[in-house]
Amino acid sequence: MVLNTPTPIHTDVLIIGAGPVGLFQVFELGLLGISCHLIDPLPRPGGQCIELYASKPIYDIPGLPACTGQELIERLLTQIKPFNAPFHGGQLVTQLETLLPPVSQEAAQDPSAPRFRVSTASGLVFAVKAVVLACGVGAFLPRPLVSLGLEPWLGRGVFYGDIQDRIRQTLSHEVWVVGGDEAALSEALQSLETLEHLAATPNTGGDTPAQVTLIHRREQLDAPKGLIDQFKNKLASSARAGPQTVKLQFLHGQITAFEAPSAPAREVFDASRAPEASSPLRLTWVDAALHSHNASVDLVSVNLGLSPQLGPLSEWGLAMKKKQVIVNTEDFSTNCEGVFAVGDINTYAGKKKLILSGFHEATLAAYGIAKRVFQTDKIPFEYTTASPRLHERLGLAPQR
Ligand SMILES: Cc1cc2nc3c(=O)[nH]c(=O)nc-3n(C[C@H](O)[C@H](O)[C@H](O)COP(=O)(O)OP(=O)(O)OC[C@H]3O[C@@H](n4cnc5c(N)ncnc54)[C@H](O)[C@@H]3O)c2cc1C
Repeated sequence: MVLNTPTPIHTDVLIIGAGPVGLFQVFELGLLGISCHLIDPLPRPGGQCIELYASKPIYDIPGLPACTGQELIERLLTQIKPFNAPFHGGQLVTQLETLLPPVSQEAAQDPSAPRFRVSTASGLVFAVKAVVLACGVGAFLPRPLVSLGLEPWLGRGVFYGDIQDRIRQTLSHEVWVVGGDEAALSEALQSLETLEHLAATPNTGGDTPAQVTLIHRREQLDAPKGLIDQFKNKLASSARAGPQTVKLQFLHGQITAFEAPSAPAREVFDASRAPEASSPLRLTWVDAALHSHNASVDLVSVNLGLSPQLGPLSEWGLAMKKKQVIVNTEDFSTNCEGVFAVGDINTYAGKKKLILSGFHEATLAAYGIAKRVFQTDKIPFEYTTASPRLHERLGLAPQR
């Protein structure tokens, strides 16, 4: 039997986590001439700065009296541009394997030999000399919807996040969006736009009534005022419009159960078919007065926010204290040789979970990593103001 093993991506270092500290780690490694890739389960870099406070100001970044989370990440991305570190979004690292120790002294001295194999949930594999854990408080994963009978529908009619392509592919008419935050409202409004577009396109079932339903367990919505106003205006115009228009409705309640699907779950993986359209999804929801209702739905998008989960990291044999990795503050190495931990994920005496602390940690970790990558204790220390070599690496002077 031929096993389909993915070809590993070779690079010096894999940085797991693309928050502010992971991004600055790229810079510090780049200055020392070390290549790296960055990986994160989120589709975009930025970690907590983008996911939790993108538009709020930060006041304690040295030399930047005030900047928003978004601005800080944009500045970091500009700063690391010269090093061309590939970013792999949507990738959750699940496995870290130490490759067998080199058999001969000669091999042990080979700086080009990878020491780790790192795999992601969706099948990417990296062969690297060192690993930096910059995982913050854990991977930001979607908060799960808890409802009876949901499991067989996951990936079949119920999805986390964006469903716009699926609406188009399956020509759906009844779309439900679960949640009440910015992402949920945006998804509902986008779904409305997509259904309106389909309704106006010939041969897409435009004569069948179509509707978007936003269901949230609270009456209050938790999104920027502009977005809430936009949503409410669409609700009002939908209530006034004639029967031919695509409708928008808001339900204050919760989905409690899904009816078992009639077709086998295997269909989900047959990309040539449209399983969502062929097997009707029926659900039960309860309103604020606890009255139960049933509905037939084509597609459901769940948007209940993200929650950090430490996940597989806790199974990698790392010495940990209260879900944080214990490090040596000389170079932020962990008890696992070749694995370093920087930013909110680590702990040591006096640790403060601040971005500037993470920047310092990334700097010392880069020197520790350089010793491994170049197999020498003599790593030159140079200033960016004066070093022609650093200017070259920063793309400020032509390569010699
Ligand atoms: C509301 C709020 C306000 C704050 N204000 C300030 C402030 O004013 N000043 C300040 O200095 N600090 C502030 N902080 C703290 C600051 O945001 C953190 O210290 C900083 O984000 C830590 O950066 P990090 O890169 O270590 O981790 P994070 O920003 O948490 O990024 C870690 C990344 O790793 C990814 N990841 C995790 N597990 C995996 C895995 N298995 N595979 C792949 N990727 C993974 C995550 O998805 C995430 O994107 C604030 C925090 C909050 C919540």
